[in-house]
Amino acid sequence: MENIEWSKLPFGYRKTSKNVRTFFKNGAWSKPEISDSEYINVHIAATGMHYGQQAFEGMKAYRGKNGDIRLFRWDENAARLQRSARGIFMAEVPNDIFFECVKAAVLENLDFLPPYGTGASLYLRPLLFGSGAEVGVKPAAEYTFIVFATPVGPYFKEGFNPVKIGIVKDSDRAAPLGTGTIKVGGNYAASLRGVMKAHDHGFGSPMYLDAKEKRYIDEIGAANFFGIKDNTYITPSSSSILPSITNKSLQVLAEDLGMKVDIRPVPVEELSTFEEVGACGTAAIIAPIGLIEDMETGQKYEFCKDGKAGKWSTALYQKLMGIQYGDELDTHNWITILG
Ligand SMILES: *Cc1c(COP(=O)(O)O)cnc(C)c1O
Repeated sequence: MENIEWSKLPFGYRKTSKNVRTFFKNGAWSKPEISDSEYINVHIAATGMHYGQQAFEGMKAYRGKNGDIRLFRWDENAARLQRSARGIFMAEVPNDIFFECVKAAVLENLDFLPPYGTGASLYLRPLLFGSGAEVGVKPAAEYTFIVFATPVGPYFKEGFNPVKIGIVKDSDRAAPLGTGTIKVGGNYAASLRGVMKAHDHGFGSPMYLDAKEKRYIDEIGAANFFGIKDNTYITPSSSSILPSITNKSLQVLAEDLGMKVDIRPVPVEELSTFEEVGACGTAAIIAPIGLIEDMETGQKYEFCKDGKAGKWSTALYQKLMGIQYGDELDTHNWITILG
């Protein structure tokens, strides 16, 4: 096998040895199969291709200090995929099949599980889509569930550095009563206009406001938003935010650290009152934010004026990463050891 420079790996796709597939037909899931092909045969009329009947998850496996193979809160990813499935009328993948496939995707690719201390991890991508043929708009009768793995490097290669965010107001990723709360590819397609606009203007990611009034903070690209002030971790509630497992975990750790947690609509003007703000999700855990700029009006909100992440964001980041790699005690039972 080629030598991988683990700490230089980007967040991207890289071929691994094996992936896992199971098929739903006549009301039942097939026995998971291990494949060494990166390709699948898909019916030309599959609903996943035409009507966006598709959902996915993103999670990671970590190599601990003592060599153990660690999964973080996989049952939360399984439950969220089941919710996504119900949201767009797909067959649900039960917990036992989800776990069997995820476990096999890790154990079949141990050569690609980055060593402890490199900051890298094995990213896992469970994918569920309608693979049965339909031409009218209705749920498919058949589904495919795939889990593939790909090694990813540390998100912050030069340290935990603040990012720049651009507020977008001329496109929306999700409607108030739409599919924003489930992890479907269609939301990502809808977000590309904002993502590309932010990139074109020199920002790392777009910030979306609520679609109806453009008054409240929704999400940052494909990550949740949080702000910290007065010893309180504040994160928006909204009918179009995807509930992040990282955010849910940070709320617990914030309480462990003695902070209060407040979940409520967050008006965009409130940005000027926060001591620290960040984006959170599996890829980075926390991306501390140094600047948020309204791309229409040019109004700026600045943070981390010394160029460094704030103390609470840093503490939360280290705590969560410590639990994932096994440097901190797993007091909330979030880790499953695979071997
Ligand atoms: C996946 C995702 C997140 C992050 O969720 P995690 O479970 O923390 O990885 C946040 N927002 C959107 C829109 C997402 O799709």
